[in-house]
Amino acid sequence: MDDPEFTKNTKDKNIRKIEKLKREKNAIILAHNYQLGEVQDIADYLGDSLELSQKAAKSDADVIVFCGVHFMAETASILCPEKTVLIPDVNAGCPMADMITRKGLQNLKKKHKNAVCVGYINTPADVKADVDICCTSANAVEVVNSISPDISEIIFVPDKYLADYVSKKTGKQIIAWDGFCPTHADILPEHIMQQKKKYPGAEVLIHPECTPGAISLADKVLSTGGMCRYAKECDVPEGMIIGTETGILHRLRKENPKKIFYPASEVAICQNMKKITLAKVLKALEEMKYEVKVPEDIRIHAKGAVDRMLEVGRGT
Ligand code: 13P
Ligand code: SF4
Repeated sequence: MDDPEFTKNTKDKNIRKIEKLKREKNAIILAHNYQLGEVQDIADYLGDSLELSQKAAKSDADVIVFCGVHFMAETASILCPEKTVLIPDVNAGCPMADMITRKGLQNLKKKHKNAVCVGYINTPADVKADVDICCTSANAVEVVNSISPDISEIIFVPDKYLADYVSKKTGKQIIAWDGFCPTHADILPEHIMQQKKKYPGAEVLIHPECTPGAISLADKVLSTGGMCRYAKECDVPEGMIIGTETGILHRLRKENPKKIFYPASEVAICQNMKKITLAKVLKALEEMKYEVKVPEDIRIHAKGAVDRMLEVGRGT
């Protein structure tokens, strides 16, 4: 059995080593809101996909340790080719991003030659290189609204549920790829109904990667960064039911100790996000691995699509 005292000492020792290596190597740690609590707690910046891309772009660190999934580290590398971008677990991928390939997108584009193509940030770099503009969950509606009304066809890849939400919000027809996030698809309408019944008066905040049925039961549809801001600004005495990956509850509770948060579903856990641990962050800094680097020809094109997104703005 684990000795709690020993575990705590090891953790403290690891934190001290991480801090020292960060100073020596001019490194920063970026962590997504779904990371384990122990990783969130040592991050220099915690955020959603958009916020972390913006931080990476502005940072003057030489090394970025990206605690998230692979496409996020790739985005940092696309924006900052001169920096060393490390991911502490090379197997931390995103099943939704893996549902689309560059070849698949090219075939779809051949069928819709005049379409503008929007790529969710949850895509591999070579797919980003072939889209016109990227978006995240925070700015997907703004990005699609920024497309000229003269354009009659819009392709959106790979998340069909986000595409459906954006189509409803913008009133624009969208040709969607058949991808989805398995973690968010696990948040069922019945889970939300049960929580609403158990906690009457609580507000439901939901991520737009959820299914249309689940989204229809929510009070607010927000990115993970949007949820963190909303939770800080608003006081809902009966509490908030959070419809996204459960890792975000650590941040919400830490930043708002007097407020109440319930998960919409206990099963909404992204195993890939949980692959990164404090010990692996330390190893990443000690051994400078695993480096994520995008080939230059792909990077240049992908950067165009990410930059166009960053010009559109903040979103929710
Ligand atoms: P956010 O950009 O809202 O954090 O969503 C990201 C997500 O699902 C990461 O996989
Ligand atoms: Fe990918 Fe879903 Fe995990 Fe986000 S929560 S990394 S979209 S599988």
